[in-house]
Amino acid sequence: MNETPDELDSARERIKWDLRRLSEKEKSLTLRKTELTAYVSYLERLLDEAKKANSPSHLEEIVIKAGLDTRVKPGMFKMSKYLVEKELEQKLEKGTKDRESIIEEIKKIRGEKQDANLCPDCDGEGKLRETHYVREDGIVRPVLNVKTCPLCAGRGRIQY
Ligand SMILES: [Zn+2]
Repeated sequence: MNETPDELDSARERIKWDLRRLSEKEKSLTLRKTELTAYVSYLERLLDEAKKANSPSHLEEIVIKAGLDTRVKPGMFKMSKYLVEKELEQKLEKGTKDRESIIEEIKKIRGEKQDANLCPDCDGEGKLRETHYVREDGIVRPVLNVKTCPLCAGRGRIQY
């Protein structure tokens, strides 16, 4: 099987298209990571502030800044403070987890980008294996034939 230039061209087109798509995804995930990093440190500051808060109005200010569901009850300051801190901690935990999973996704995308030009015919091996069968003395046995992959010329990767 000889590869026509058409097959090489379409493999190259696909690689370029994949790389473009992966780069765009990486870009938007990186932006999301930056936003989450800022959000997490904002929450950390607010949690710190909540721990030091000494009036219901100060606590109320923090609730508004962080967009919390907890309602401050002036007559129950200690309980309100406890609930505000708890909600902030939960938000912080979620924000940190989200950020970690975004970082994992970015790592995955970078790996995919690196593998984008692996040869689709030989899966990056540079060689193709074919088995054929020969009959000798009435016994059929398989013979493995290894040849250089024509699409990537044995490189395992497509130059694009
Ligand atoms: Zn190949």
